[in-house]
Amino acid sequence: MAKKLHQIIRMCISCRGRNIQKNMQRLQCVDGILKIFDGDGKTFYLCDNCLDDDKKLLKALMRQCKSSNKEKLMNKLKEIIADDR
Ligand SMILES: [Zn+2]
Repeated sequence: MAKKLHQIIRMCISCRGRNIQKNMQRLQCVDGILKIFDGDGKTFYLCDNCLDDDKKLLKALMRQCKSSNKEKLMNKLKEIIADDR
């Protein structure tokens, strides 16, 4: 029972669904470049469902990164996911 208290809930930037932090992909944007969280700076989360829904998550990413370079964002995201799995 006590363990449950330590589960941190985060919101997905794309679907705004909430999930346990460890089930989500934690990302950040530095100078418009998408990258995996490296311990510093502002971050955001994407859930697994949204990681499979390119169109929808791309909009959210563009908003977060203040970037309109879809291809660059998407390539970077695929890279991050591939590394992580
Ligand atoms: Zn989501």
